[in-house]
Amino acid sequence: LRILGIETSCDETAAAVVARHDDGRGEILSDVVFSQLEEHSAYGGVVPEIAARAHVEAVDGLIDEALARANLSLSDIDAIAATSGPGLIGGLLVGLMTAKAMSLATGKPLYAINHLEGHALTARLTDGLSFPYLMLLVSGGHTQLILVKGVGEYERWGTTIDDALGEAFDKTAKLLGLPYPGGPAVEKAALSGNPDRFVLPRPLVGEARLDFSFSGLKTAVRQAATEIAPLSDQDVADICASFQKAISRTLKDRIGRGLARFKAEYGGVENPALVVAGGVAANQEIRRTLQALCTEHRFNFIAPPMNLCTDNASMIAWAGLERMAKDVSPDTLEVAPRSRWPLDTEAQTLLGSGK
Ligand code: ATP
Ligand code: MG
Ligand code: FE
Repeated sequence: LRILGIETSCDETAAAVVARHDDGRGEILSDVVFSQLEEHSAYGGVVPEIAARAHVEAVDGLIDEALARANLSLSDIDAIAATSGPGLIGGLLVGLMTAKAMSLATGKPLYAINHLEGHALTARLTDGLSFPYLMLLVSGGHTQLILVKGVGEYERWGTTIDDALGEAFDKTAKLLGLPYPGGPAVEKAALSGNPDRFVLPRPLVGEARLDFSFSGLKTAVRQAATEIAPLSDQDVADICASFQKAISRTLKDRIGRGLARFKAEYGGVENPALVVAGGVAANQEIRRTLQALCTEHRFNFIAPPMNLCTDNASMIAWAGLERMAKDVSPDTLEVAPRSRWPLDTEAQTLLGSGK
């Protein structure tokens, strides 16, 4: 089985062709991404209208390129999968309408995929992981700890009550005068900083619930920066290092509790695993923290290659293949994009109903 995937939910236009072999193994035949980073960097964040227009301009060419790189034509493809939420509605419309038009013209089945489900199932494509496992998604728009029980079966154990983690990096960078996107800039500055110079808050640490909160941290950074302004490069480095330390400690507490809960509820699982996804997973200090935590709790730590951690179409194609393998009915041409679409079991009630 071969499927074409299309992803247009945020600021990456992406297309991919993925195959699923008879033994269940997945294989990426092509994967192309056009990042709109340059279009948005002058504004310090993603501008929805600019994103939608850029998707319109890029999507057809990317689909052609994905097919060409896989050495296939549209007639060799068995189905089409596109992200239908959550995300920016203009972008979602572009990808989903393109997929619908292709489905209508070719008669091939259409799968409307939840973007978060794409992230959640990626480790089965890259590492052949079996259910159940835990997934931490940390990106510019999401901070979620998800129990992945099966295709279409997800439990959200924790989420952010304010800013996403990537957003906290971006806002912190902005107020320190560092470039967008903030994550890489903060990480670089932190390398030469003193992580103990500023004691920043560690939100929700010690609480039993598994949620996250990062907006107080950003406020504390602003206060620290205002007090010592004007900032030297060393000041900026010290703030960045202290910021990352506070985040690492917070993640250690929050995720540590999640791993303990998994062991309490799924003690019989032989090789428990924690998977990371999202752009923030590029951060080396955060990776080290999660790796150490997993070693301590005897979990496998799985970090897919970075191009599959950030937004891509292979994960959307793969989620479609997982549905096909489970004989889930395809979606109809009536399916509508949804800017909000939480990945809970309840939110998956559409699954299998053919709607
Ligand atoms: P979505 O949330 O819809 O999946 P997104 O485009 O916001 O999409 P990604 O592209 O996965 O998310 O990730 C971008 C985010 O990752 C940005 O907030 C960026 O600052 C952050 N990021 C990237 N590299 C690093 C890094 N080295 N350290 C920390 N954060 C990083
Ligand atoms: Mg992105
Ligand atoms: Fe994403």
